[in-house]
Amino acid sequence: EIPQTTFKRVLLKISGEALMGDQGYGLHPPTVERIAREVRSVQEMGVEICMVIGGGNIFRGLAGSAQGMERTTADYMGMLATVMNALAMQSALEEQGVYTRVISAIRMDEVAEPYIRRRAVRHLEKKRVCIFAAGTGNPYFTTDTAATLRANEMNCEAIFKGTKVDGIYDKDPVKHDDAVRYDRVSYDEVLQKNLKVMDASAIALARDNNLPIIVFSLDEPGGFRGILAGQGTSTTVHG
Ligand code: UDP
Repeated sequence: EIPQTTFKRVLLKISGEALMGDQGYGLHPPTVERIAREVRSVQEMGVEICMVIGGGNIFRGLAGSAQGMERTTADYMGMLATVMNALAMQSALEEQGVYTRVISAIRMDEVAEPYIRRRAVRHLEKKRVCIFAAGTGNPYFTTDTAATLRANEMNCEAIFKGTKVDGIYDKDPVKHDDAVRYDRVSYDEVLQKNLKVMDASAIALARDNNLPIIVFSLDEPGGFRGILAGQGTSTTVHG
């Protein structure tokens, strides 16, 4: 039986590292497939789904520039990494019978659709999963900012940030046994306490548009669907 949800349109943000499994680098196909199944199970609830996937499992602009590469060039390489991840996710979703579009912020017409807002909205209305690739198309930004931007543009009701832990803690729960999870936390508190959720520009953009960010564990099987149905633990960043 399919549980009910109040959400109609959401954006799922995952880091590139979520796709690498236990490896230190790149793509781990069984992990990509597992996440694709999570997405399908939410689509079965009738929810329209946008996705933004990072590129950190392949390349990060900051890492490149730390090694002497020109920052903007390194950032473009990072954006191209997100396109590879988007294509891997597209392939895994279509394998499961889910219709998808990869929509790139940097034109590469043979590989992905260019980003045209109204066209993307139409895809969502037709229940296609839209995977937004190449970040914002601009260096100096991150895929967290891209996620917030696209979620606003697509009128998503919330961003669901899938991570390794089931919410935001006052300190790293992997290192500290006494770390406490927030149920709800304000955008300003996240910024003031520098809580590790998304980078500051992404948080500010969400705050200015009152877009909730829900942090949950993607390692929990059925976790994405559960959170949408109001079950399980998570942290909501709100106004
Ligand atoms: N990037 C960028 N502009 C964007 C989005 C991403 O320049 O709008 C680059 C940046 O170099 C970043 C890399 O792409 O390091 C990969 O994205 P991100 O670090 O956000 O991936 P994640 O940490 O989520 O895997």
